[in-house]
Amino acid sequence: MANRQPESRIWIFAEQRSGQPADVVFELLGKARLLAAAPGWKVGALLIGHNVSGTAALLENRGADEILVADNPGLEDYRGGNYLAVVDRAVRNYQPDVVLFGATAMGVDLASRLAARLRTGLSAHCIDLELNEKGELAAVIPWPGGDFLGRIVCPRHRPQMATVSPGIFDVPRSDFPEAEVLTIDGALNSDRGFYRILEKKPEERKPGDLENARVVVVGGYGIGARENWALVEELASVLGGVAGATRPPVDEGWVNADLMVGQSGRTVHPRLYIGVGVSGHLHHLVGVKGTELKVAVNQDTRAAIFDHCDLGLAGDYREIIPALIAALKEPRAGGDL
Ligand SMILES: Cc1cc2nc3c(=O)[nH]c(=O)nc-3n(C[C@H](O)[C@H](O)[C@H](O)COP(=O)(O)OP(=O)(O)OC[C@H]3O[C@@H](n4cnc5c(N)ncnc54)[C@H](O)[C@@H]3O)c2cc1C
Repeated sequence: MANRQPESRIWIFAEQRSGQPADVVFELLGKARLLAAAPGWKVGALLIGHNVSGTAALLENRGADEILVADNPGLEDYRGGNYLAVVDRAVRNYQPDVVLFGATAMGVDLASRLAARLRTGLSAHCIDLELNEKGELAAVIPWPGGDFLGRIVCPRHRPQMATVSPGIFDVPRSDFPEAEVLTIDGALNSDRGFYRILEKKPEERKPGDLENARVVVVGGYGIGARENWALVEELASVLGGVAGATRPPVDEGWVNADLMVGQSGRTVHPRLYIGVGVSGHLHHLVGVKGTELKVAVNQDTRAAIFDHCDLGLAGDYREIIPALIAALKEPRAGGDL
């Protein structure tokens, strides 16, 4: 990229809560480091909060060249308007070429507000990012319809912005050269938080969390009705795993939204994935691409999921799954997954 000006910048938003960086921050730093491999590119981590020097230290060797810290008591907790004011000012001052956010509740809220404020584009829930020799970011997403991947570029507006779900990129090594820590303006001219935080409760992470599960059984729209969902849960339980869902069962109200797996849901890395009544749209499959063994149960032999699985069971799940559960419940020799 010899034609790039020195000091082209990729920034990642270093989301933190109570000083703890979100996992996706490390993943974005690793990807940004790879994208910024050409001479003249710098990776910056934009860290906003209060008393976050310890947080900056956690990010020091994770691939950033610089950590830009805006510290202010009014920034202790995420309140969109206040964070927006600080990020907006920082972007206007430093003019990064690319700004990346985790597709978390905080990341998507802030990124969409910032893109609107800066009148630039935002590619949401990307599954990969590429940078060409002109410094144009290509954001890879499953195309509407879900059967192939598309690339979105934003050639005329800067910065180029994207959100990426947690779990998509690998966590980088922790032995990169130490980043320079820079203090940037964190002043708030007025409180634009628009709400007050009355109480904070830590999120309960259960051992059965989808992201940590070794077995994930995903029920799709083919399950047909809420009352049939028990079969998905029973199969997951017999296998010592966790039940997940595609989008339609969530939209239908059969299951909670936090069970959704895919581009706009969770990313899982189990040893075994079983998709039951799942057709195989890329929007869903990108969320299970780290799986070791994929099994599909579908009554339509032409379903796309059969092109993406290691083992396909063609037939009605209402016959296959009870038989599978009964077989798994039989005493047997052998190891666990
Ligand atoms: C921007 C965007 C983001 C999205 N993000 C996500 C996401 O994160 N996660 C997600 O899942 N989706 C997401 N979607 C939706 C996605 O495109 C698909 O619509 C969805 O994944 C389809 O879910 P499904 O396979 O359960 O349903 P369907 O496509 O309706 O497939 C149901 C399958 O069940 C089979 N079936 C029916 N009855 C039976 C039976 N008795 N036994 C066996 N098989 C049976 C059918 O043959 C069919 O193949 C997104 C879409 C967009 C546009």
